[in-house]
Amino acid sequence: MSTTPSLRPMFTFSGWIIENIDFDWETLQAFVNLRIDGRKQHFKCSHCGSSMGTMRTSERVVQDLPIGVLSTHLLFTAFQGRCAHCKTIETVTLPGLSPNAQATERLKTHVSHLCRYMPCDKIPEFINISGGTARRWDKEVLMKTLPSPTLDDLRALLIDEKSIGKGHNYLTVVLNADTGETLFLGEGKKKETLDQFLSSLTEEQKASIQCVGIDRGGSYQASVKQHLPNVAIVYDKFHIIANYNTVIDQIRRREWRLADEANKKFIKGQRFNLFRNPENLTPKRESALKELLAMNEDLSQAYILKDMLKQLWTYTYEACASKFLDNWILLAKETGIAELKKFAKGLDRAREGLLSYCRHRITSAKIEAFNGTIKRIVYKACGYNDLDYLYLKIRQEAAK
Ligand SMILES: [Zn+2]
Repeated sequence: MSTTPSLRPMFTFSGWIIENIDFDWETLQAFVNLRIDGRKQHFKCSHCGSSMGTMRTSERVVQDLPIGVLSTHLLFTAFQGRCAHCKTIETVTLPGLSPNAQATERLKTHVSHLCRYMPCDKIPEFINISGGTARRWDKEVLMKTLPSPTLDDLRALLIDEKSIGKGHNYLTVVLNADTGETLFLGEGKKKETLDQFLSSLTEEQKASIQCVGIDRGGSYQASVKQHLPNVAIVYDKFHIIANYNTVIDQIRRREWRLADEANKKFIKGQRFNLFRNPENLTPKRESALKELLAMNEDLSQAYILKDMLKQLWTYTYEACASKFLDNWILLAKETGIAELKKFAKGLDRAREGLLSYCRHRITSAKIEAFNGTIKRIVYKACGYNDLDYLYLKIRQEAAK
């Protein structure tokens, strides 16, 4: 066995000796037989230092890092001893291994690394464990190693609801608007969901928060006002533009109902083009959009106003932004389009939250980035049933 000695450094456990390494080439497994080094280990009690008597022994098999394609197991005898002096009961096992561990920490850490780059149900193709075990270990490692979120010295928060999966499960997400760090993930989108997070903050942590970016609708406003009464509420650009896209879609559908068969098909395919930023459209899509706007007065006006509305978030001075908003509302009302008039009224009511952007500059970029990553994470985390795990995966991604 000329290859065996070179493998030995892989299994260095202080106080333990490798007796031999067996290979089963049929099942592609390696077994590392270890025994305790009696010369070094005298079964001393870790509390008082007295000698310990062995109460019982148990044969253990612990999975370790694979050697190439061979799944590898450590075989050894664990001892349970009792201190004659202080009566402490202790288990002597491999260093770094908890008494009932099924696998070494380094294997769990390795699996956790793999889970960062692939879905956990793909892990069994590389490591001889089930997808469920991969997920459990990944969660265990992340809980131990990920730093907890920073809740001190927060300036601005972004709060959003996220619908994931087909069953319309809603999550409430709280982000640090400046760093993008995910501070909280809660089930549901009610006031109580956000209460959970806000009531967990200390008075000092609350005091540093100056502004909170939220959607106009929804139930978060009540929670923010209750827990953070002195904080400015900002209606961020992302949500307002998303609301506006819904309005455009209402107009598009109305036009579609009125159109003849040939035009129906044409209008139907344009939803994407209307929502996308024009600079992100392919030339083909761009010319299709142009054609649609040329033949449809209402959609054309709504589309032009959308482009204009985005300018609202370019102002530094509140007075200028206010003047711009007045002008926009006037233009929208003048179109005579019912959907736009209604939206304009809503903006007028939301004025304070819109203009506070000038002072607090919460950008919605972090929410947009978050929306982009959550899908990928749900895929890698093999679903979203375990909310704690999902939260860990999101924090891991953001910590990059
Ligand atoms: Zn003792």
